[in-house]
Order: sequence, then structure tokens, then C-alpha cells
Amino acid sequence: MKSTRISFRLFLLICLLAAFSLSASAQETKQPAAPLGPAVVPSYIDRSVKPGDDFFLYSNGEWIKHTEIPDDRSYYSPGSPVEDETQKRIADLIIGESKSGGKERKIDDLYQSYMDEAALESKGLSQLKPHLDAIAAIRDKKELARALGETLRADVDALNNTSFHTPNLFGLWVAPDFNDSDHYTAYLLQGGLGLPDREYYLANSESMREIRTKYQAYISTMLRLAGFSDPDARAERIVALEHAIAEKHISLADDNDVHKANNPWKKSDFAVKAPGLDWAEYFRGAGLTPQKNFIVWQPTAFAGEAALVESTPLETWKNWLAFHLINAQAAGLPKAFSDEQFAFYGKTLSGTPQQRPRWKRGVSLVDGFLGDDVGRLYAAKYFPPESKARVQAIVNNLLAVYRKRIEALTWMNPSTKAEAEAKLDALYVGVGYGESWHDYSNFVVKPDDLFGNLWRGRLAAYQRQVARLGKPIDRKEWSMTPQTVNAVNLPLQNALNFPAGILQPPFFDPKAPDAANYGSIGAVIGHEISHTFDSEGSAFDSKGRLRNWWTPEDFAHFKAATASLAAQHDTYKPFPDLAINGRQTLAENIADLAGLAAAYDAFQAALDGKPAPAQGGFNGDQQFFLAFGQSWAEKLRDAALRQQVLTDEHSPGHWRVLTVRNIDAWYAAFQVQPGDKLYLAPAERVKIW
Ligand SMILES: [Zn+2]
Repeated sequence: MKSTRISFRLFLLICLLAAFSLSASAQETKQPAAPLGPAVVPSYIDRSVKPGDDFFLYSNGEWIKHTEIPDDRSYYSPGSPVEDETQKRIADLIIGESKSGGKERKIDDLYQSYMDEAALESKGLSQLKPHLDAIAAIRDKKELARALGETLRADVDALNNTSFHTPNLFGLWVAPDFNDSDHYTAYLLQGGLGLPDREYYLANSESMREIRTKYQAYISTMLRLAGFSDPDARAERIVALEHAIAEKHISLADDNDVHKANNPWKKSDFAVKAPGLDWAEYFRGAGLTPQKNFIVWQPTAFAGEAALVESTPLETWKNWLAFHLINAQAAGLPKAFSDEQFAFYGKTLSGTPQQRPRWKRGVSLVDGFLGDDVGRLYAAKYFPPESKARVQAIVNNLLAVYRKRIEALTWMNPSTKAEAEAKLDALYVGVGYGESWHDYSNFVVKPDDLFGNLWRGRLAAYQRQVARLGKPIDRKEWSMTPQTVNAVNLPLQNALNFPAGILQPPFFDPKAPDAANYGSIGAVIGHEISHTFDSEGSAFDSKGRLRNWWTPEDFAHFKAATASLAAQHDTYKPFPDLAINGRQTLAENIADLAGLAAAYDAFQAALDGKPAPAQGGFNGDQQFFLAFGQSWAEKLRDAALRQQVLTDEHSPGHWRVLTVRNIDAWYAAFQVQPGDKLYLAPAERVKIW
């Protein structure tokens, strides 16, 4: 579960609305990737900060002082140029494919449809009109239920790429069944909000009130542009409805608790457990009439939202449907619509002053809809076999370390250890790219029809997922494309993916010293492996089934240790009025801690008793921890940081780096003493795996 890195998630909402890929974002001026290397960069270090007071600022303070976030971004890190370079490569592949036929023809047609702005202006509202007419023609709640069903898309992912947000009433995720991990089933998740999370509706801070006011104004503007009368009054009712929906939603921290999510409902259960919505019509609209079994992630939200369908006037729902249609299709409408969308979702919600150039957005769009077609080309051109071999060696060392660490745990009973070891033995670790490619043949792309391409692309993706329901699972299936600069753990498949995109400097370099590779990509790999055993991963057995394989006393120990890690993070305050939520970020923090500890052991094992060569005046251990600290260097705009703290399962980079305070070797490496701000007495250092 849970991708490793955060940067791209900040674009989540815009990405969902415009169906852009979550991968590589881009910036106008390309920076040289060369001096970054995975070795420690001494010029980033702020020697005026004591390592024991703030290891993030010590590792990165000078880089922070001398780095400006580009205007078209909400976030910047030393990895951003890598994302840029990757995006540039993707763009070259896409644009370079324009002359060929077949699959590549589709890539080019989609890209051209995005670039043809004149066509968007000349078509105006003509393609939107029939959709709006269909909504206007809805006569009763039965027809409404059908229309709501027709909006269901495969746009959420609870455990792999972790996206809990859909602006549609509900979202579908097709994945191995919690209770039968050999077959795919249908998970349904709460939805219906245009803002990123329920907190945006319910929190009473001034910044949230301001966002709500601007959101309502944005809805009104979009309705006015689409030709609606009385847009202010309609917008007010839409926001009131979404506020009522938000009150029914469960929190992100609860979303992350798989034990609360395992609620198998038969189709006939819906009318009884969530009355108010005509479910037979809903499922007919969604094309899910033949599907008998579902897992409902948030039962109380389903009951609450279904009741709102009954109690809220039909006209309000029709306005809500119309707004969300316009919002989802904005990129395929005249420029005024996408400009307004960026002004709200880009500027107001993320603090990004300027929109990325159109060609970059076009590349993201193609990458989002045809990611594996692009990935096939990318992997062939940019992932050398020697990188694969070297990464595989690091992975094997880390797996060996985990095995040893589990064996050595004094608090764990042999029966629990045996299943933990079985999980490691069965783990599938994919390096570079997958063993098969997604087939996009059901997606019809037309070079002069962006509106239609957006619509058909999302529908085709949905239909591909629905077609998998009930089929046997493929444990080796990837959930990321090769060009993604990220990594992921897939708990229901007991599998890891390390795409080619992250296996390059500054994360990994086959020519770099071990200290740097283990501190950077080693900690990332360790992080992903340890998701196998984090607060959620520990709930799945070696076959990916949701099953309790722990003895009660082992589990009690695990809970106590993880609770103290959550408490540690609760004390971190990125803003005076906003602290990190230790429970919401717990799984990621466990993964950071276990991953760093394992990477350190694997680094020591790789040294095989020989001293690590000094570099830039730093010994091996210092290089290892600095490489870790620098791998999380980042700058975020305040609005984006706030959004991350509220909506993300990852702590921001600054606080992830503070994980070091739980590792004994860090104290020795930097002579950290009592009285230093990060100092923890040995008994207070959290040790889990
Ligand atoms: Zn993670």
C-alpha cells in the first residue's frame, strides 16, 4: 500500500479532474541533473544547524535557502529535475511517435487533441450541451439513481496508490478480495466532494472558511460559463449538499484502517443497509447489475449519502451533477473553463501561481490515459540491464536483513515469526517494469475531439476494471507505469513495484558508493518491504488474505510500539494551528522507520567488515544518514503543505527525516547528546521491526 513519495499527490485533485497522470509533473527551465548524484551533496548542508537539533535543516538548509519553487509548481525538490527529465523523455517518445501507426498512432492522436486549442474554442459548449440536457431531463429520484450510477468510475484506489477521493457520489476499486485473495472483487468507496477531503467542509479555521467561500464562487463561475441562470443560488445549494455529504464521510485516519473497511455486502444488502437510493437503478446505470458481491469501505457514509439522495430536492442533485460534469470535462471545453479550474484548484488549493505550459499538461494527459503504451517505449529505451541487476542485489540484501531482524525479535512468538517469514518468501519484487502491459484497445481516440477523448478514456478505464471482476488475480501485475518516479507496495498481492523512473540519480546510481545508495534507494526499498509489516500490511497474510496471523500478545506489543511512534508524530507542528496526525500517517511512519533501520543493516552487511571510504569529510555512517536526509529535501508552498498534512498518509519530508532519532547509529554518527532537540533516551527510541 501507499506509494513512497508524496510530491505528485499534491496534484491529486487537479489530476483527477483533468484525468492527468499522477506521475512526473514538470517545470519550464530544466535544471542539470548531473551534480545531484546519489552521493551526499556537501553544499546542501547548513553547518550552522546542529544535526541533533534538526537533522532535516542540517542536511538541506543551504539548498533550501538557495532554492525558489518555480511559479508553475507547489512543490520542489532535488528530485524534481529527474521528474522533469523523465517528463521530457516521455514527451520525446510521445511526440516522436507521431509518424507511426498502430498503438503509437493513438498516443499521438490523444496528444494532438489536447494541443488543438482552436478546436476547443470553435466547438464551444456544443459537446457539453447533450450531457447537460440529459441531466435536465431527469424527472424523478429513480432516474436520478440511474444517472448517478452512470457517473461511477474506477478512480479510487484504497491500498496501492492510495487515493480515497472521488468527486462522483461513489468510486469503484477493483482489487483482490479481502476474503478471497485469488479473485478480483468490487470495492466501493465514499465520494461526492469537490474539495479534497471532509476537513475542508467541517474545519472551522479561517483558511478553510476562505477556501469554502472561494469554492462556492468557483462553482458559480463554472455554471455561469456553461449558460446556467441564477448560478449563485445554485452554487450555494451545491455547497450545502456537499457539506451534508462531508458530515457523513469518515476521516482519512479511519479510511486507513482495513479492519473497518472489510464489509462484504451482497447487492440485496444495499437497499436495507443504505436506504434512500434506488440501488437497482444505480447499479444498472453503472453496468454492475450482474455483480453480486461488493466490499463497502465506509458503510456509515453509504447509509448517510443514500439518505441524502432521498432527503435532498431533486433540483439540487441535478445542479450538483451538472457542476461535476463540467468540472470533470473542463479540459475539453473552451480555455475559460480550464483557466478558472486552475485558478481554484491550482492557485487557491495548492498555492501554485502559474499553470504549467500546455505541452507538459498534454504529456501528462497521455501518460495518464495510455501509461503502459508510453511505458513500453520508455522501458525499452531508458532502463539498462545493469541497473536492474544492481537494484536486484540491493533488494536481496534488504530481504536477507529483514529475515534476520525478524528472527532476532525477542518479543515475537515463533508462530507469528513463521508467517512473517512466509510473507517475505512469497513477496514478488518487480524491478524496472512489469511482465505484461495493459491493453487500451477499448479506448477510441480521435485527434480532433478532446472532450470525447476525456469522456471515453475514463469510461474505457472503468470498463476494463469491471471486466476483471470475478477473474483470477495476477500477482505480478503492476500498479505503476515504468516511467513513474515512485515506488509502491501492493498488500493484497504481496508484491512490490520499483519502476525504472525512480531507479536513476539522485535516488540510485550504479556508480555511486554503497553509503549513498543504501541511504537513499535502500531506505526506499526498505520502506516498501516494511509496508508488508506496517499497521495495515500486518493485517494481510502471505497469500494477501485479510487474516489475523498474530498471537494476541505479539499484536499487543506491536500496537504499543506503533502507538508511541504515532505519539511522536503528533508532536510535530508544521503550522501553529495544525499538527501532523500520527494515526493518519502511522503506516508510512512505520515504513520509514523500519526501512531506514533495515537499510542501515544492509549497508553494514554490504561493507562486509571493511570501512566505508570517506567522502567530503564524512565517514560511511554519516554519508548514509545524510543521503537519507537529503533524499527528502523539499520545499512546499504553505497551501500545499497544509493540504498534505490534512489529506496525505505521508508526513511531509521535513518530519520524515526526523525518523533518524529512533536509530542508535545516528546518535553515534553525529555525536547527538542529551539536550539536543531531537535527542531521545535509548528507552524512548521506537523499535518495531
Ligand atoms: Zn509508503
